[in-house]
Order: sequence, then C-alpha cells, then structure tokens
Amino acid sequence: MLNLVLFGPPGAGKGTQSAKLIEKYGLIHLSTGDLLRAEITAGTDLGQEAKKLMDQGILVPDSVVIGMIENKLNENKGAAGFIFDGFPRTVAQAEALNTLLEGHQLSIKHMISLEVNQEELTQRLLERGKTSGRPDDQNEELIRKRVQEYGEKTAPVAGYYDSQGKFQGINGIGEIEEIFGQIVRIIEG
Ligand code: ADP
Repeated sequence: MLNLVLFGPPGAGKGTQSAKLIEKYGLIHLSTGDLLRAEITAGTDLGQEAKKLMDQGILVPDSVVIGMIENKLNENKGAAGFIFDGFPRTVAQAEALNTLLEGHQLSIKHMISLEVNQEELTQRLLERGKTSGRPDDQNEELIRKRVQEYGEKTAPVAGYYDSQGKFQGINGIGEIEEIFGQIVRIIEG
C-alpha cells in the first residue's frame, strides 16, 4: 500500500500531480475539495452548508471532511493506495487521519509538499478561474482569504508530518514533468 499526502497551498498543482500519480501507481484519489463540490452538485444538506463556507474561502468543519474520508476508506478496502489531496488541512484532521488509517492497519508513507510563492499562486488561480467555473477562483479577495486560511490553519500540518520524518518539500514552480520526476524519486527513493 502506497499512501501519500499531497500538500501545498491552493493552486500549487496538487490536482495535476495527483492525476499523474494515479496513472502511474493506480492509486485512489481522495480530494476533499472534489468530494465537497460533488455534494454541492447533488444538492445535499451537507453540500449546502459547505457551500456557504467555501464561497467565503473558509475551511469547512473538521468533522465533515473527516467523515467523508472515513466513508471513502471503507468503500475502497482493496485499493493499491490512496492520494490524499487537500486533506488533512488542519492538525486535527491529520490526527484523525492517523487514527483512521491505524484502524485499517495503514499509514502515510510520504507527505509531499509543493512549494509555490503567493504571487504565482494568485496568477494560477485567476487563470484557472477563467475555465474551471469555480467561483472561489474568480475573485482575488477570495483567493487571498484561502491563502490566509492555508497559512493559519494548514501550514502547521507540515510540522506534524515533519516530526514523524515524513515531510518532503519540493519546488512547485517549473515543468510539470520535472516536478513529477521529483515526486517519483521520493516515492521510489
Ligand atoms: P484548493 O486547494 O484549490 O483551495 P480545494 O478544491 O481543495 O481547493 O478546496 C476548496 C474549498 O473546499 C476550500 O477552500 C475549503 O473551503 C473546502 N475544503 C476542501 N478540503 C477541506 C478540508 N480538508 N478541510 C476543510 N475545508 C476543506
């Protein structure tokens, strides 16, 4: 089992690199952002509540995303491994993930952090907003709020994995293939 956390601020390229990892290693992609957007599209109560927060660039409650991840782990017991993308986003989520994985006799192998400066992030997100249809990518104020949430609540998650010797930071600016090569070297290193 190869279980990875792909980490980094909004717009760092987690989705792009996840797609390549899935193709190469046959992993299951668990993106809490995608799962929440699916709930919104389906019009569920959870989706309606989450949308109010997501439209403001604020994180949804830990209990909500932890519950979604728990369901997905239970649904995919025979998987070759998981890529966690956009989760854990708080230290509480990281602790809960640890407990959930232990319950399945699993653990995180690497936490790979894509490092990109704020200027580049804002440009990428505004560019993505032109085609993605995501309302949270179309407004500079909202992007700033998401990056602020990242700095306050999510950045400390790096320390959580670093203290377990699992943190690996890589430069997220450059050619997609080159960045992917660095990730592969970490996995196969
Ligand atoms: P990005 O990484 O581009 O910001 P995501 O698609 O991962 O986008 O997430 C979009 C929004 O969904 C976040 O701004 C947040 O409101 C919510 N969200 C996603 N994952 C989590 C999480 N693990 N914990 C709390 N909120 C989350």
